[in-house]
Amino acid sequence: MSAVKHGTPYAYNKGCRCANCTEAKRVAHAKYRRSLGIPERKLGLEHGTQAGYTNHRCRCDECKDAQRRAVAEYRAIRAANVARARDMGLAK
Ligand SMILES: [Zn+2]
Ligand SMILES: [Zn+2]
Repeated sequence: MSAVKHGTPYAYNKGCRCANCTEAKRVAHAKYRRSLGIPERKLGLEHGTQAGYTNHRCRCDECKDAQRRAVAEYRAIRAANVARARDMGLAK
């Protein structure tokens, strides 16, 4: 990664997690949220969580991603439960 300039969101996206790049990413994300009209500091709002998406109606990339993962997980659990119930029904 010699060509990557540290302290940029670009470097962070390339996988660098050094302090400079993490901070640059945080600043860029905050700017992005502001551009969407999302308040920067909302009590209890933690980005990248399903609560951020559902409770705080945040629609930033991180919260949308968390919501997507949570929904996928929920569907997988439900599908597993349905399959188990079906198996149990057949076993009788
Ligand atoms: Zn870096
Ligand atoms: Zn968010």
